[in-house]
Amino acid sequence: MRIAILSQNPNLYSTKRIVEAGTKKGHEMVIIDHTKCNLVIEKKNPTIIYKGKTLTDFDGVIPRIGASVTFYGTAVVRQFEMMKVFSATESQALVRSRDKLRSLQILSRAGLGLPKTVFSNYSKDVSEVVDAVGGAPLVIKLLEGTQGLGVVLADNRNSAESILEAFNGLQARVIAQEFIKEAGGADIRVFIVDGVVVGAMKRQGKEGEFRSNLHRGGSANIIELSDEEENAALKAAKAMGLGIAGVDLLQSSRGPLILEVNSSPGLEGIEAATGKDIANQIIRYIERNAG
Ligand code: ADP
Ligand code: GLU
Repeated sequence: MRIAILSQNPNLYSTKRIVEAGTKKGHEMVIIDHTKCNLVIEKKNPTIIYKGKTLTDFDGVIPRIGASVTFYGTAVVRQFEMMKVFSATESQALVRSRDKLRSLQILSRAGLGLPKTVFSNYSKDVSEVVDAVGGAPLVIKLLEGTQGLGVVLADNRNSAESILEAFNGLQARVIAQEFIKEAGGADIRVFIVDGVVVGAMKRQGKEGEFRSNLHRGGSANIIELSDEEENAALKAAKAMGLGIAGVDLLQSSRGPLILEVNSSPGLEGIEAATGKDIANQIIRYIERNAG
C-alpha cells in the first residue's frame, strides 16, 4: 500500500515510528507536510498539489496534525477523503476533538463521568462561576492550552476569582473545573486504535505538581485498567468518532472521569511505558480499512 503521513516534522518520534512500522510491512510510506499542500477543488476532481506534483494513488492517510494548524490540516484531510482515501482520523472527528468545550459537551451527552466544568462568556460575575463549580479549590484552564501549559490550580476563592478576572480581562477563553484532589497529581492515558485499547499508562506529576504531563516533568508507567476505566475510555473515543485516540482520565472517588480525548496522541511516552509496538497497531488499522 501507499500510505501518507501528514506531519510537519519527519524527525518526530511518532512520525519516525509510523514510517518504520509501515516500511517493515512492505508499504510505501510518504511523509507529507500538510501545511505545504495546495488543494485543488473543481467539479468531481479533487486533487492535492505538493512540492509541484499532484498526489495520486494513496490507499490511506495517517494525520498527525498539530493543534496550531488544525484548520488547514483538517482541510487537507478532508481533501484526501474527497479523493476516497481512507483516513485513520476522520476530518470531522479531528475538528471536534480540537474544540475542548464541544468535546466536553459530546462526552457529557454520552453519559461519561467528567469533572464538573463551567464555561462562561468572560462573565463579570466571577464569584458566580466559582460557585457553579462548587467553590475552591478549582482548576482553571485556557481553552487553547496544551501540554499542561495554561492549567492553573486556584487554592482558594480569592485566587480563583482574580485568575478568572485576569483571563477574562485578556479575553482569553477559559474553563473552570472541579479539582479532583484524590487523583493525586496523576492521570491515565489510554491509547485506543479501532475500538481496542492498545496501551495504557499512568502518568504521575513530579513532587508537588498536580499536572501529570510528561512535558511538565511527570513520569509514566504501564498500568492495568479496571473494566470501568477501559469501558469509559472506549466509549469516549467512540463518542468522539476517533479511530485513533489518546483518552486522558482521572481516577476519582466516583470512578473514572474523562479529562480530554487527544486525536494525535504521541507514541513516545506510551511505547516507552508499555513496551508495546503501537505504531504497528496503527498500520494494521490502515491495512484493515484502506485500499
Ligand atoms: P493539557 O491538555 O494542557 O494537558 P489537561 O486538562 O490535560 O491539560 O491538564 C493537565 C494535567 O493537569 C492533567 O493531565 C492532570 O494531571 C491535571 N488536571 C487537569 N485537570 C484536573 C482536575 N480537574 N483535577 C485534578 N487534576 C487535573
Ligand atoms: N503530546 C503528547 C500527547 O498528546 C504527550 C503529552 C504529555 O503527556 O505531556 O500524547
